[in-house]
Amino acid sequence: MASRIPDEVMIDAALIKELAGVAKDTALLQGVLMRTKESPNSSELVTYAPFTLFPSPVPKSVFLQALSVQTHFNTLVDKISQDIDFLQEALASTIEVDDFTARLFKIHQQILKEGRSQQSIVLGLNRSDYMLDQREDQTSSLKQIEINTIAASFGGLSSQTPEVHKHILKVAGRLEESQRILDNNPAAGLARGLAKAWELYGSESQRTLFFMMEEVQRNIFDHRYIESELWKRNIPTVRKRFDDVYKTGSLDPDKRLFVDGKEVAVVYFRNGYMPQNYTNEQCWDVRLMMERSQAVKCPDIGTHLAGTKKVQQVLARPGVLERFFPDQPQAVQQMRETFAGLYTLDMGPEGDKTVAMALAEPNRFVLKPQREGGGNNIYGSEIVKVLREVRGSTERTAYILMDKINPAPIQNYLLRRDSPLVISNCLSELGVFGAYVRQGAHMVMNECVGHLLRTKSSEHADGGVAAGVAVLDNPLLV
Ligand code: ADP
Ligand code: MG
Ligand code: MG
Repeated sequence: MASRIPDEVMIDAALIKELAGVAKDTALLQGVLMRTKESPNSSELVTYAPFTLFPSPVPKSVFLQALSVQTHFNTLVDKISQDIDFLQEALASTIEVDDFTARLFKIHQQILKEGRSQQSIVLGLNRSDYMLDQREDQTSSLKQIEINTIAASFGGLSSQTPEVHKHILKVAGRLEESQRILDNNPAAGLARGLAKAWELYGSESQRTLFFMMEEVQRNIFDHRYIESELWKRNIPTVRKRFDDVYKTGSLDPDKRLFVDGKEVAVVYFRNGYMPQNYTNEQCWDVRLMMERSQAVKCPDIGTHLAGTKKVQQVLARPGVLERFFPDQPQAVQQMRETFAGLYTLDMGPEGDKTVAMALAEPNRFVLKPQREGGGNNIYGSEIVKVLREVRGSTERTAYILMDKINPAPIQNYLLRRDSPLVISNCLSELGVFGAYVRQGAHMVMNECVGHLLRTKSSEHADGGVAAGVAVLDNPLLV
């Protein structure tokens, strides 16, 4: 069990208690904030967003590997989003049984039928997530968990957490480690992408930029960092619900989107990534209207679909990356190195083989439906149960199977409101933010804009920060 903070610090209860108090105050000072469960839609009651007391060690080589492959993943997502045949083929079996993906796909089809709008500006803001699989020789290899192409969060708060860990390490007498905490500012990079798309849209001063928000807004401060970066550039940035847009939104004959009488240049979806976000049919109407419109969508429907787990599984098949990068064997190799084993559950002999393999050793795998937001995956004996239930039925094609990644546990303290201060065995997940803007055939921007480390107790198989399982962290490069 590795821990770079000396044991005598980790087990000194009085010191830990003092440090935890300082850490929480520092998080509040730095704006590492979240609204509370009791009042998710008001800022009268806020608390610190959950975070680790100490940063977690991450090997430098693996960290740099994750950063350096990001622009290739940006390009990949962008290429997939434009490849009609690929998306159709990859998702054919999934949309037979998964209603949510089917609805998204239907929007995609409808737009194709009507002809794409004149809009040639594409904005992609994504986050590629990884865990470090521990090899037998104790080294670790970078394995991609997924790419989030819609509503990838924590770019704002993770811009503020480095100061908290820098400070706490100093107070703990670890000045040298403190100086090794990396600066990080995904909020600025994501905002740069949004601002670029807004600029390219046209020169009218009245055009607005929309943040589509959820009904429950505990994580509003994460958004606010990006919003304030946009307001600094004098970009009118407005938060809206699907319902608001339904009431006052329309398309003009040129398919320009108007809401409250103002033209919308960019729609940034921080909502719409899971079925529960579409509380009524009007929400779907709005998503379709936006997709039809000339406004830049982040993401557009093709890019949203490119982020499905089914697409991820298909990408891992031999020859598929080559299809998108025919002349770039190095890029292909760099991306493929990060792929874990991914297996189809389509009907047929290959899918049957996957089922047999999973039933024989369920603890080696994760069973994944086409869902986002954490807490949806299936592990261990549950895999057996679910696969037995769907045996011989097309229902199984709603899932994919993935090798389970096993990182080395690291001890840390998870600071969360109203939770006891206890040492936990923890697992971390590294996210890398990508931002790109394309105008027609020209890539105007393609960047890696920062990182996110999230850490959870190893008792939990699944779940992100918003799901109440993981907490914010920072890498300490070793
Ligand atoms: P979501 O889109 O809901 O975030 P993920 O694929 O990221 O779905 O899975 C959610 C969580 O489950 C991850 O944050 C991670 O903790 C865990 N997880 C997912 N895939 C694996 C895997 N292959 N091995 C180990 N843990 C995994
Ligand atoms: Mg996801
Ligand atoms: Mg995830």
